[in-house]
Amino acid sequence: MNSPVLKIKERLSIEEVVSSYIKLEKAGTNLKARCPFHNEKTPSFFVSADRGTYYCFGCGASGDIFTFVEEFEGLDFKGALQMLADRAGVQLEPLSKEAKENKSEKEKLYEAMQEACLYFENNLEKNQEALEYLKSRGLNEKSIKDFRIGFAELDWRLLYSHLKDKGFSDTEIEHAGLAKKPDDANKAMYDRFRGRIMFPIADSSGRIVAFSGRIFVDDGKSAKYLNSPETPIFSKNVVLYGIDKAKDSIRKNNFSILVEGQMDLILSHQAGYRNTIATSGTALSDSTVSKENVVSNLGLVRRLSSNIVLSFDADKAGANATIRAGKIALSLNMDVKVVEMPEGVDPADLISKTGIPAWREAIKNSKHIIEFLLNKVLKNYENDGRKAGREIKEKILPFVNAVGSSIEKMYFLKKISDASSIPLDALQDDLKKIEQEFKYETEEIKEAGETLTKIYRKDRIERNLLGIALWQQTLPESVVDFKSIFEKLGDTGEKYKDSEEDLIFEAEVSHTSNENLEKDVAEMFLNLEEENINEELNKKMSELKREPEGEKGKKILQEINELIKKKEDIKNGRLSKK
Ligand SMILES: [Zn+2]
Repeated sequence: MNSPVLKIKERLSIEEVVSSYIKLEKAGTNLKARCPFHNEKTPSFFVSADRGTYYCFGCGASGDIFTFVEEFEGLDFKGALQMLADRAGVQLEPLSKEAKENKSEKEKLYEAMQEACLYFENNLEKNQEALEYLKSRGLNEKSIKDFRIGFAELDWRLLYSHLKDKGFSDTEIEHAGLAKKPDDANKAMYDRFRGRIMFPIADSSGRIVAFSGRIFVDDGKSAKYLNSPETPIFSKNVVLYGIDKAKDSIRKNNFSILVEGQMDLILSHQAGYRNTIATSGTALSDSTVSKENVVSNLGLVRRLSSNIVLSFDADKAGANATIRAGKIALSLNMDVKVVEMPEGVDPADLISKTGIPAWREAIKNSKHIIEFLLNKVLKNYENDGRKAGREIKEKILPFVNAVGSSIEKMYFLKKISDASSIPLDALQDDLKKIEQEFKYETEEIKEAGETLTKIYRKDRIERNLLGIALWQQTLPESVVDFKSIFEKLGDTGEKYKDSEEDLIFEAEVSHTSNENLEKDVAEMFLNLEEENINEELNKKMSELKREPEGEKGKKILQEINELIKKKEDIKNGRLSKK
């Protein structure tokens, strides 16, 4: 019997899958495209229909339909498997009894979230008051259903008891972030969300990973919004609200709209803008979150389309975070526009009170972020040229600096000069200073963007190898020498202690009935070695940049040559085996 992975591959060609994400062109017997995993102007990303694989000569990204979906969507293997299985119409076999009992913790947490979501949805149906409130905000019934909005009663243990009845353990309920343990260990756990309208947050494959609860009856002391804490399935830096529903539309329309709140998002979708995503409950709206995380958050959006329109209520603190995200988006070579909103009005108000045409106009009239900021400064300091000049230098030039191309930089400088009557050469001088000042930051963002995919790739090879070894170890007759795999991996296994069940599952569905497992394992070790060499090469390259001269430089160059030689050897070794 074929493994589900093989079945899916028989039904879905790599061409079909990849071209549903990016535009492919013919290149001889292969297909090519601009790589979605790194920034480039000319295509170096190739798809081989015969082999069912892709390879990028620019950044080394490579793999099959599963790795492509994982990397593109930022999903784990199971998420990608479920998505592709649905698409291929392949029924994933129900798990065997043992497998069911040994479900990984993550699996159980996903189930707990799903159960909680159903429970909240049921509550809402029975709560006329909450339903009326949502309708008064402009939501129609279809939106309420589509976005699976729910309600958490104002009570201490309703959800907790419900989940216990369904067989979830205290630890699972706590780890899912749905209930908390009181300080007094003798007391029972209590629900985290009480008296709130519940918005489930899903990952890009649609699995519920968190909730955001909006207070229903304001008691004056509880936070207006309460979000799930970080859990094994929810890391605030990787989920944008609505991404599962927006991704197709972002790709089709070639731009995304980034709003702040859930209401903004749902009403925008309801108004026909299904390419809207929201920062709520995620890293973009949190200034304590590192740049790397904002970068990884924007990564998926950028892969879908490099055009983004930001919309936020200019009065709110959220504006700063959105503007910050805008600057990072610029550094990632995205085209960033801002919707000009009437003061004190958010998109939800605009759509529900003024109507869809007003929202459409606002989006149509959105301005490039630099122009938007410039207009604001000029308006605020109409009568004080000196202050306006200082604001331009401090608040706007850093954005000009973030723009990638020098032609565009010049274009914006000229625009600022014309509008503010600051001489162009003065602006150029200031920009040079800022380039120096932000040099480190700019590099850092660019590197963060690249490193993320690189680390991820090495991680995946390690995980695959470890999964195969763990799986083989459970079999009465193993077909590969799992002991040697463990040995070669050394203590890397420690990193994945908590996800062993997931790794075994992945190995099993990928490799059952695979007669070439031994060969595959050898190939994976070669890939791993290559990734290690690449990492080392990158390090040496930046060392060389810092010290290109003298004995030191010579030595680094020699080391680089040795590393390149090693890479060649791996390649040649592969060829001679074939
Ligand atoms: Zn690439």
